[in-house]
Amino acid sequence: MTIDPTAFCREVWLSYQSGKGADPTHALRGVSTAVYPGEFVSVVGPSGSGKSSLLHALAGFARPSYGQAVLLGADISRSRQAAIAKVHRRGVGVIFQSLNLVPSLPTVENVLLPSRFAHARVDFGRATSILAKLGLEHRVKHRTSSLSGGEQQRVALARVLYSPPTILLADEPTGALDTTSTALVLDQLQQLARNGTTVMLVTHDLAAGALADRALVMRDGQIVREVHQPTIQQLTVSAPAAASAQQVNHG
Ligand code: ADP
Repeated sequence: MTIDPTAFCREVWLSYQSGKGADPTHALRGVSTAVYPGEFVSVVGPSGSGKSSLLHALAGFARPSYGQAVLLGADISRSRQAAIAKVHRRGVGVIFQSLNLVPSLPTVENVLLPSRFAHARVDFGRATSILAKLGLEHRVKHRTSSLSGGEQQRVALARVLYSPPTILLADEPTGALDTTSTALVLDQLQQLARNGTTVMLVTHDLAAGALADRALVMRDGQIVREVHQPTIQQLTVSAPAAASAQQVNHG
């Protein structure tokens, strides 16, 4: 029996035209990859190598200039926004730079918001306990706008954990977090994958990347290496520039 991938792309090129007459930037250059149910895949590589672009193409947030991207069985590379939104409602979680939180709402209500939109029964206690697992027990009733960037990132993750999606696409979800919160978030991502969600994590943090079942190493818009059961040492050798980017970002 063959298992269908949760998402895949074939020969995807993603090009940005930065100005009139300027040469386009090729953020992705013919990328092909597939991710499967319950798999935890990290995407590592130096800044500018195309990690976020790959996630955007797989999420349907950026339309490939060439090639195909398929998400939950739907070809999103040619779909309209409304059709892509429908695919997302079927089971796609995203944690991107813009977190889609409503700043004026209490934290717990941001976790419950998708359920409220869907007119589903909401479980306040469950939402609170998920927030507590992410170290936000003291923030449950606070207005979301009063939370730090790192806390808001965790609220976005709490929302995903409240209704686990079929696939989670997460772009640097630990980018603004201290070591303790990073560990809490990575632990939850691993648990999510163990419970069957496909998790795709873009990170410049090679220690986080090494927690995945498989790491995709990117450079210059291409996947240059795939490492199964990666170790930090292997990723440091494969993506040394990512390690130095990490030092710059944290330094
Ligand atoms: P990474 O996530 O690895 O840092 P990105 O996918 O963000 O890399 O970027 C890949 C390349 O595409 C970079 O050269 C970046 O400057 C360029 N790029 C990304 N988004 C845009 C955009 N909206 N407009 C123009 N160029 C972009």
